[in-house]
Amino acid sequence: MAGIIEIHRLSKRFDQQLILDDISLTVNDGEFLTLLGPSGCGKTTLLRLISGFESCDSGQIFIRDKNVTQLTPQQRDVHTVFQSYALFPHMTVFENVAFGLRCSKVSTTEIKARVENILAMVQLSDFSNRKPHQLSGGQQQRVAIARAVVNEPLVLLLDESLSSLDQQLRQSMQIELKRLQRQLGITFIFVTHDQEEALAMSDRIVIMQDGHIIQVGTPREVYEEPANLTAARFIGQLNIFTSRINEVTENQIHYSIEHIERRCKNVKQLKKADPINVLVRPEDLRVWGEHELDPTDHMLPGTIDEVIYKGSTVDLIVRLKSGRLIYATEFFDEDDENLFYNKGESVWVNWLENWEVILIDESA
Ligand code: ATP
Repeated sequence: MAGIIEIHRLSKRFDQQLILDDISLTVNDGEFLTLLGPSGCGKTTLLRLISGFESCDSGQIFIRDKNVTQLTPQQRDVHTVFQSYALFPHMTVFENVAFGLRCSKVSTTEIKARVENILAMVQLSDFSNRKPHQLSGGQQQRVAIARAVVNEPLVLLLDESLSSLDQQLRQSMQIELKRLQRQLGITFIFVTHDQEEALAMSDRIVIMQDGHIIQVGTPREVYEEPANLTAARFIGQLNIFTSRINEVTENQIHYSIEHIERRCKNVKQLKKADPINVLVRPEDLRVWGEHELDPTDHMLPGTIDEVIYKGSTVDLIVRLKSGRLIYATEFFDEDDENLFYNKGESVWVNWLENWEVILIDESA
């Protein structure tokens, strides 16, 4: 088998309700894989099934080719870092980290060497005699990770491990975690409902919805080529237009938005009259002042409804002719006079051909 973990047709019910529905997934050796999805979609349940804290109704889980479906958590070579960290409050940092090794009857000399090594790695060497309550949230999290990785598991499972940290600490811990994972070479499976966190940290992202996996891909793939509207909406902000294909010529489709004709490559072999959703990311939209352009073929006319200055970017809300609002993001450059818009100003909006994502409109 190819992956370090192979999940084969896994299903799980709670109180007759199907929580995971026939899930199959390969986790590659050494990767940082993130399970991402809205609250209640089954991320934690999937993690608990992998760790063995929960048992499945059907399906199989293999870890390094060994069928572990019926094994206890202790018999699986995985370790979980819980959201609450679950540190022993009465033990020092050193003893918290040493605990698993003591249970496995590792020699005192080896325990000392391994714990000191791992504490240095998570930059907590100076804190080894402290108790958990004498540490910050970020430091406690590092102890929890050190305690897990000192046992050298094949896979580390992290359940919303950063969610209790404030924004700044969270960002620095994201970098820290990624660094640690590279350094250790251990496979990490990380659960979050924060899409930015998933994009920043993962080698691959698994997007889940209602107990199903709807897409697996690199951050770039899921961002640029969402599998469907749910995946697209879940990752980043988006402008979604509904349309229908007017015409197919050679390898191009022609469609209209607000009565303006646009065209792009026919990558999905669509046919005339197919209902479609046209997806354009705010940062892919270009907004032009009236004086900037001539001609304005294939551009959508509108007026500036709101200008939101965000430091490195300027967010524009543009009202199209139909009254519909769309979102555009431009990188802020104080030397660029064309970036200064006034509310009510007339503008033109377009995007580069083929930068839009076309999805067949399944609701039509
Ligand atoms: P969140 O992001 O909010 O943690 P999640 O995607 O991790 O959500 P799960 O915790 O896996 O979701 O829960 C999926 C569904 O299963 C939810 O509807 C939840 O209420 C239900 N569920 C989870 N554990 C149990 C349980 N032990 N008994 C009954 N229902 C449960």
